[in-house]
Amino acid sequence: MKMTLKIISLCTATALLSACSEVNQKPTGAGNSASEAAFGTSSLPNSSSSDLPNVSSSSSDLPNSSSSSSNLPNSSSDLPSSSSSSSIPSSSVTLQSSSESSKSSSASSSFSINVSSENENPPDAEENTNVISENITVNSGDEIRIEKDEVLRIDGDIELLGDIYVEGKLIVSENAEISGTGVIHIVNSFDDIDCRGTVSAKIDAPDPIEKDGVTYVGGILVVNKKYSLPKNYGNGFSTQLNAAVSAMRKDSGFSMKIASGFRSYALQESVFAYWCSVDGVETASTYSARPGHSEHQSGLAADITSCSSSYANTPEAKWLAENCYKYGVIIRYPKDKSDITGYIYEPWHIRYLGKSTAKLVHDSGLCLEEFLEIDG
Ligand SMILES: [Zn+2]
Repeated sequence: MKMTLKIISLCTATALLSACSEVNQKPTGAGNSASEAAFGTSSLPNSSSSDLPNVSSSSSDLPNSSSSSSNLPNSSSDLPSSSSSSSIPSSSVTLQSSSESSKSSSASSSFSINVSSENENPPDAEENTNVISENITVNSGDEIRIEKDEVLRIDGDIELLGDIYVEGKLIVSENAEISGTGVIHIVNSFDDIDCRGTVSAKIDAPDPIEKDGVTYVGGILVVNKKYSLPKNYGNGFSTQLNAAVSAMRKDSGFSMKIASGFRSYALQESVFAYWCSVDGVETASTYSARPGHSEHQSGLAADITSCSSSYANTPEAKWLAENCYKYGVIIRYPKDKSDITGYIYEPWHIRYLGKSTAKLVHDSGLCLEEFLEIDG
């Protein structure tokens, strides 16, 4: 069966010997009983000093904008206008079903990768799912295009030196790995990747899109010092984030109280005004957001247990930092990224992204601004 998925130009299959071993960390929780979440009931911050972020040692002047993340992605402009699968360029290779073709050993200019049609594998089977089950190298200058409505599942290891354009769906299986100096271009949405394996190759995000006053990058809502939310945005705490926290609580054994969840614009206005009265605008801005600019207003963020810098040293915070991505959330303002995010390290502030994207961000070692290639 001919696949419509195209590999433009030539790919060279190389038997890679690397094996991907996944380390599954066991929860190290001490078996604390879970406590109920207190989200949605946020009041003004308690003025006791233990609740104050320890800003005195880290409140040096932060730049308002980062110069390192000013390069917006241009993947969409790189796309060719022709995407019809019936007109494959002469230099392209049509993937073939493994039932019809075995690995090509000819020295001709064409090359077939073993791609099987996944009709007999129901779990994620979609009619047009193609599978690369072997280890291959995509050379520099070569590219794989996953067209709209097509699915490519990667079960092997890909050494990516060229490009992968994802407009359809890319599934990276649990033990699969995409590494190398090449780039995976997200054409529309991060939802088009289902990453359960390891991706260390660079991921190129699409340009930001504004819709009804809200900015999205590849479907991910963005709110930070540069991008704001409308005054009337938000209607409560994300049920997905609530479920993620409940699952983490259960699996870790830690209490993981939601100290602050959803905040309305009006509440954030009060919160920010309060901290400004305590610390002054400049210092307050390193840990508290101006109204409209708080991630809490999206409902997709939560402060866990304690907004104190000492929280970072607790077993709970260490478990959270190590494991939260498995539940679809990230530590939004990581250590050593303050110059980009504009916020001090906040080990308590988590942001929901969904499992696949959270894993991609975690594995990249980047903060969200860097990952999405936007200013902080
Ligand atoms: Zn927060």
